[in-house]
Amino acid sequence: MQADVVVLGAGMVGVSVAVHLQQRGKSVVLLDRRRPGEEASFGNGGLIQREAVSPYPFPRAFAELRRIARNRSIDACYHPGALPGLLRPLFGYWRNSAPARHAAIARAYSTLIASCKGEHENLAAAAGATALLRPVGYIRAYEDAAAFAADLAKAEAVRREFGVNFVALDPAGLAAAEPHLQAAFAGALHWTEPYAVNDPHALTLSYAALFARLGGRFVLGDAATLAREGAGWRVAAADGATVEAADAVVALGIASDRVTRRFGYAPPLFGKRGYHLHFTPKGNAGLTRPVASNGFLLAPMRAGIRLTTGVEFARPDAAPTPVQLRRAEPVARRLLPLGDAVERTPWMGVRPCTPDMLPIIGPAPGQANLWCAFGHAHQGFTLGPTTGRLLAEMMTGEAPFVDPRPFRAERF
Ligand SMILES: Cc1cc2nc3c(=O)[nH]c(=O)nc-3n(C[C@H](O)[C@H](O)[C@H](O)COP(=O)(O)OP(=O)(O)OC[C@H]3O[C@@H](n4cnc5c(N)ncnc54)[C@H](O)[C@@H]3O)c2cc1C
Repeated sequence: MQADVVVLGAGMVGVSVAVHLQQRGKSVVLLDRRRPGEEASFGNGGLIQREAVSPYPFPRAFAELRRIARNRSIDACYHPGALPGLLRPLFGYWRNSAPARHAAIARAYSTLIASCKGEHENLAAAAGATALLRPVGYIRAYEDAAAFAADLAKAEAVRREFGVNFVALDPAGLAAAEPHLQAAFAGALHWTEPYAVNDPHALTLSYAALFARLGGRFVLGDAATLAREGAGWRVAAADGATVEAADAVVALGIASDRVTRRFGYAPPLFGKRGYHLHFTPKGNAGLTRPVASNGFLLAPMRAGIRLTTGVEFARPDAAPTPVQLRRAEPVARRLLPLGDAVERTPWMGVRPCTPDMLPIIGPAPGQANLWCAFGHAHQGFTLGPTTGRLLAEMMTGEAPFVDPRPFRAERF
């Protein structure tokens, strides 16, 4: 099977890259070991985070570090045995989270985030999936008045510097916006610009269907079989066919460095795992939009109220340990009347992270015709279409619509 480009990985990022290349006249094969959108892009919070101009920093305050070190919190936890293997990337993450560096990183990141809504709107319109982009924003609700005041000040700074909108809600305003919330909240921030998608898998599938309508081909196969074929590439499909292409794009989420390492590029990618479980709402209780509080997210999804956890650090091959879900569930039940869990086993996904909190987008160092599109951490669902456009422009020699230099692979 011949193609101009083989895109490895059919999560939100790979599917979006494939659509953008196919739209530009390239013949593209999209390859994944599973059907499209079944890993991290499947079970996320569904937020298209226009407000996330500033990537999540590593905590620097001593009290915060001590809280996390005790390993009992809802928002972050770790397997002690995983720490030695994570020391280098986490040290880099900590260093890059120093205020001056983090501010510079946020300025670069904000150039990607700025286009996330428009780029999703374009793909969703072409895919007939605009209804999935619910323009309701999301709410961050605080039971602690001091935490609310601190985050309000940060939100005001974000609005001043980046022009992102939000509304500060007092308890009455929050009750009017989400009448079924039942805890005594001190206040809330309603980020009004994000889209809330109530079926993230359906959105990725709709972009994959658009790719197929444009003439793109999807094949099952293992990206580990990628090999040089002259100046180009070949990779084995599961049905025994061989895909040959001039260019290859690595968009394998957390598995990306496994493939790039074989071709001399070993970026310090590390994972932040997260879990979800759906609950039926009790009686007529419900949410209009996702609500983040106490270190987890409650999002109204087609499958039920999705309780999504924060971050867990573990070895790549460690079995799931959904302790954060167990800690979060009683708190979630205090916030919202929840019925039974919909699934027996929680879903787990891995956010593909880099020490400087920026994704890797562009040519792989030292390997002609090999391209990177990974490392989108907490916002890969948000940024897939933006990265898709940027990389397709770079690969086809168009002027990139965003300066790609902060995201270049050579920085690692
Ligand atoms: C709990 C949680 C909540 C989140 N909430 C949000 C949110 O609200 N908003 C947001 O923007 N982001 C969110 N994220 C982050 C987001 O989900 C990820 O950044 C994003 O899905 C990454 O997309 P991707 O395409 O890079 O990777 P993936 O979706 O993981 O896709 C990678 C693909 O590569 C394939 N693959 C891997 N290895 C091989 C191989 N050897 N051969 C063939 N195929 C292979 C996989 O099958 C997979 O389909 C969340 C993540 C988690 C875990």
